[in-house]
Amino acid sequence: MAECLLHPVHGYYTTREPFGTKGDFTTAPEISQMFGELFGLALAQAWLDRGSPAPFTLAELGPGRGTLMADIRRVTKAVPGFHAAARITLVEASPRLREVQAKTLAGQTPTWIDRAEDLPEAPLFLVANEFLDALPIRQFQHGPQGWQERLIGLRDGALTFGLSAPLPQGPDTPAFRHAAEGVLVEDNLPARVVAAEVATRIARHGGIAYWIDYGGWRSQGDTLQALRQHAPDDPLAHPGAADLTAHVDFEPIAALSPAFAWDTQGAVLARLGIDARAKRLACSLTGAALESHQAAHRRLTHPEEMGSVFKVLAMTSTGAPPPPGFA
Ligand code: SAH
Repeated sequence: MAECLLHPVHGYYTTREPFGTKGDFTTAPEISQMFGELFGLALAQAWLDRGSPAPFTLAELGPGRGTLMADIRRVTKAVPGFHAAARITLVEASPRLREVQAKTLAGQTPTWIDRAEDLPEAPLFLVANEFLDALPIRQFQHGPQGWQERLIGLRDGALTFGLSAPLPQGPDTPAFRHAAEGVLVEDNLPARVVAAEVATRIARHGGIAYWIDYGGWRSQGDTLQALRQHAPDDPLAHPGAADLTAHVDFEPIAALSPAFAWDTQGAVLARLGIDARAKRLACSLTGAALESHQAAHRRLTHPEEMGSVFKVLAMTSTGAPPPPGFA
């Protein structure tokens, strides 16, 4: 999964333009400016609630085209002191996407880093949309002789899935501990390593992190998926030419933070005021533009669209004010 996505010559994110109608998928910030505006104001409110620490790190993991950060910057201009105190830090592995982000954020001065381990030791206000789902998973099948890892090999010259010999034990997460026989469970260790870096910064220096992604709580089953030109693809069919993701099991990630809140994207956007914002924007629109705005609002929030399969995990520190967007 890591090689397919990030190989320096053949990797998907290194070589392709995945986003938008010509690409393979569309993400929430690309669907509507409202997404970035609401999370931008949530970050700013959390910053005010925590005594406006200065300087602080305003970070995004996996910024794609940079649209979310651009919307965050535009909307937070109105918050006194926020821009002056913010040091923008972007964690991005793809050199090609770094160039796209630099163009989108022209006039700003972001610093790019390779890994979350390199995040500054400072108060941290962070957002990551559809980032954790791109980090490699391992899959394990619970059989009569214990756990076996699902591996990829060659049969008659074609990539194929197979099972390892039984292992002495499986990974140590609640999903594994509670798995019934016959069940396939996924381990997202690289996602937990990144999230632990973020949780540690917030515990030490204060701040908040919003993780937005599709996934569940104590998830089980095979969620590895490939997407090519907006259609599902066989994950082994086009290595490096299709997007590969897996649903995020949020439980072991949330457990890394002493304080957290978790809810569906639809519920969080509703509490952040998306209906009022959508109405306000609709005032200046007519015809096709108005219809597409209304469709975007529905797409982000409706339970049958992105509203309930996408979740928001907010990490904060012990005793901190509650994260904006949660009950
Ligand atoms: N957040 C954006 C893009 C999501 S796609 C949006 O919502 O539109 C995933 C992003 O994470 C891409 O920018 C990709 O290059 C980056 N990425 C994937 N794996 C990464 C890794 N291991 N380290 C850093 N960035 C990574």
